[in-house]
Amino acid sequence: MTNGWHGYHLVGGHVALDLVNTVAWRGDASRTMDRLPIPGFLPLWLDRTGLARGLEPAPEVIDSMADLRENVYRLLTAPTADDVARFNTRLGSAQTMAVAEPSLPLRWTIPITEADDVVPALTLAADSLLRSPDAAQVRECSGPACGWLFLDRTRNHSRQWCSSQDCGNRERARRHYRKTRT
Ligand SMILES: [Zn+2]
Repeated sequence: MTNGWHGYHLVGGHVALDLVNTVAWRGDASRTMDRLPIPGFLPLWLDRTGLARGLEPAPEVIDSMADLRENVYRLLTAPTADDVARFNTRLGSAQTMAVAEPSLPLRWTIPITEADDVVPALTLAADSLLRSPDAAQVRECSGPACGWLFLDRTRNHSRQWCSSQDCGNRERARRHYRKTRT
């Protein structure tokens, strides 16, 4: 397995959720895997999410991304006032780097031209999710210990799995196994 991409999918429906999902198996400490520090993963992630091409962020940037990621995960699942305050501090410094085209509605973005832009840009993206009605559509995968988040855009809010091929399949296999055992 090279670059840590095996088993990873951009299924969040929002880049902030795809960031959260760079940790696999959050609910089981013995299996938890953080993909961000795996050599080669992050440049590919930045490319495939459309954020940046050809960037190789330094370890400090990776640490800072992981910090933002955990902050966003908690805000989306079990937010405390402390999490909000921490995010607000990040947002304040990100906003000083934001630019917008002079047309309404203003859309603030941080163009990524160097690795140091990555965390502020993701902070701004996370902020727009956290403030939008979409935040109420964020679900955590029902797969035991999976911990991935996604936007449930199904009409009857019935999406259960990060991916029907992964957690959905595992659950089907489990049910089948139980049925054939009894
Ligand atoms: Zn899952």
